[in-house]
Amino acid sequence: MTSRQTHPQQNSADLSQETDLAIDAQNVTVTYEDGTEAVRGVSLSIEKGEFFGFLGPNGAGKTTTIKSLVTLLHPTEGSVRINGYDTATEPEKVRRSIGYMAQETSIDRELTPRENLQLACRLYGVPVDQREDRIEALLDLVDLQDVADTRSEKFSGGMKKRLDAASVLVHRPPVVFLDEPTTGLDPEARLRLWNYFEQINEKGTTVFLTTQYLEEADQLCDRLSLLQDGQIIATGSPETLKSEFGMDIFQITIENTVEERIERAVQAVRRIDTFNEPTIRTTEDGFIVRSARAREATSDLFAALDDAGVSVSDFDIRSPTLDDVFLALTDGSSDTTSRADTGMASLSAQEVST
Ligand code: ADP
Repeated sequence: MTSRQTHPQQNSADLSQETDLAIDAQNVTVTYEDGTEAVRGVSLSIEKGEFFGFLGPNGAGKTTTIKSLVTLLHPTEGSVRINGYDTATEPEKVRRSIGYMAQETSIDRELTPRENLQLACRLYGVPVDQREDRIEALLDLVDLQDVADTRSEKFSGGMKKRLDAASVLVHRPPVVFLDEPTTGLDPEARLRLWNYFEQINEKGTTVFLTTQYLEEADQLCDRLSLLQDGQIIATGSPETLKSEFGMDIFQITIENTVEERIERAVQAVRRIDTFNEPTIRTTEDGFIVRSARAREATSDLFAALDDAGVSVSDFDIRSPTLDDVFLALTDGSSDTTSRADTGMASLSAQEVST
């Protein structure tokens, strides 16, 4: 396995541990008929009750992976167990034990929210005597009680997504897969959905969420994997990933920006010993230095720029965000295999620009 794991790995041969896993995927590889290698050796061990994020840019392979997990696609190689059931040999049991919210909403726009949920109850085989209570509870949970009997065709994108999220949960699945559930929504609609996902997770539901939004993963997830070009390049809690990255970010804007001046500044910064192998990236109007010792080097930095005849018009020093972690891991090279094996610290050294 090529991913960098910061969570203890479960041994899939150990049955006592395996029962704790909601999702156990080993070496999943998906090659489409046209030869596209969309997913390359993805392994995931996700415990019951976890809120797990699967993060990556467009085209990274998130949807392909999720489709393999929910039995919509047979992996070319590898194996998947969901709630202990094998997706290849027990797909029906897997389907009964999961909820899947695809990118495209599956609600019937001609129907009201209550009718949509009634339909979902029938499809998922919810016992008749439990349907009414369950529908009322879900309408409350997704905040659609006021419009429960209004046809959904004129609903906003956020309302449709909330209804869709409710309808994949009518059978109270222990594991829910959410494929970019908030893409295209405004911030308020996004927050309402986050609230809902947090509530179901607090009640014990395992959540597997794919997203392009680092902020979303940071806010919601216990752990996450970063995916690029079909491979996991890092796994850990948001806090662990940020602290392992262990760097501060120094952003400098310089006066009278011209390329030659930025280059002179970068050369001056590179000569400062205190930084100890910084990563330097030029921007339109200055540069960014990433270093474990950015704060200690502040006065040396200003002195060096002064000596080089470069005036600073603005500067900012901050802790890394998940964006920085992702950028650090994905910049500068297209060879993700070597990156995955290298680890974050040495990656940063490889990345130095110019
Ligand atoms: P994401 O969900 O991260 O945006 P996808 O899983 O949709 O990524 O796509 C991963 C890669 O697989 C992309 O290069 C995409 O173009 C390709 N791909 C997706 N679906 C198909 C398909 N049905 N046939 C061929 N290539 C596909």
